[in-house]
Amino acid sequence: MNETNAIVQRGQAVVMNTYGRLPMALVKGKGTYVWDAEGNKYLDFVTGLAVSSLGHSHPVVAEAIQKQAEEILHTSNLYWIPKQIALAEKLVENSFADKVFFCNSGAEANEAAIKLARKYAKEHYGKDKYEILTLVNSFHGRTLATLTATGQTKYQEGYAPLPEGFSYLPINDVVQLEEKMSEKVAAVMLEPIQGEGGILPVDVEFIERVRELCNQQGALLIFDEVQVGLGRTGKLFAYEWTGVTPDIMTLAKALGGGVPIGAMLATDRVASTFKPGDHASTFGGNPLSTAVGSAVMDILTEEGFMEDVQKRAQYFKHELQKLADKYHTGEGIRGQGFILGWPIDRLGPEIVEAARAKGLLINFAGGKALRFLPPLNVSIEEMNQAIAILDQIFSERW
Ligand SMILES: *Cc1c(COP(=O)(O)O)cnc(C)c1O
Repeated sequence: MNETNAIVQRGQAVVMNTYGRLPMALVKGKGTYVWDAEGNKYLDFVTGLAVSSLGHSHPVVAEAIQKQAEEILHTSNLYWIPKQIALAEKLVENSFADKVFFCNSGAEANEAAIKLARKYAKEHYGKDKYEILTLVNSFHGRTLATLTATGQTKYQEGYAPLPEGFSYLPINDVVQLEEKMSEKVAAVMLEPIQGEGGILPVDVEFIERVRELCNQQGALLIFDEVQVGLGRTGKLFAYEWTGVTPDIMTLAKALGGGVPIGAMLATDRVASTFKPGDHASTFGGNPLSTAVGSAVMDILTEEGFMEDVQKRAQYFKHELQKLADKYHTGEGIRGQGFILGWPIDRLGPEIVEAARAKGLLINFAGGKALRFLPPLNVSIEEMNQAIAILDQIFSERW
């Protein structure tokens, strides 16, 4: 029996069966490459789902972890945490936000955003303003509130009764938006580009209308940038492309360079609703995750970094588009920066598997599109290798 079979068997015996896992274990990574337990090498265009955005084993990330482990790992939010303050300063300096709450995941950041929005609405407008409006096909997490916010019933089945006060509308549907936008709405929450839903960008005109109606109704606008934030789209935050500023923004995935962390950012006016005791997290903003987050932010905000991401991402999108044209796969390549979707209507899982066999990791998002999430510092040569593998696969079976 090979190494991987043994790992799969041991895992099936003791790990809860909540994932449809591929029969492989990744045990080592360096830059854009990862290695499985058999020693096979892969180009990683999944990056743990937009987490390892600086590639694997980045020396700056490794050094930040090492240094902090030798200094202090955990103290509790009963005390001030200088590393937490430093990361908050960097996030505030580089965004619309004035204040930050730290937690440990995307779902927790969205849970905090929903709680803050409801409390804010109650404080300013009274008890009947509690509704959270989200988009069909969205993904906001797996806690009870965030899976209720998630506009996909497949994630909600079996968990009734779900929290009340959530309502959904189709992406980019201005007519339904205008219908659903009542004085009961406390917040509209959306991903500027839907990730799990299949790389579906929200139109700028739609986002502008959401902002207008939120202002009219006294509702807050929450951007879930858990997947698209932190340079993924070629700007530090995806909202920068839209010209629209939210009141609350959530981050997680890439913020810790692989170390778990989440953050909920807000303007002063909104953040001041939270008073001591209103929300908390034992691990939230701990010295380790925030020290690493600071190191990640320093790299992302280096002069010219985002321009370089944009240039290489445009190259990759162009090369993917050439393949989509060559094989007449239908709709063009979607997305921005290094969150790109290649919509295909058949063979999705087969192409993902064929790519894996040829040394390229990608996945199939929302049953709709091949999803590409390479590290932001992926090289032209690595992108060319990925394109060559995809070209060969499509030439053999499309
Ligand atoms: C992954 C994701 C989440 C959930 O993050 P977790 O860290 O898995 O809780 C929420 N929103 C979006 C847009 C995501 O992509």
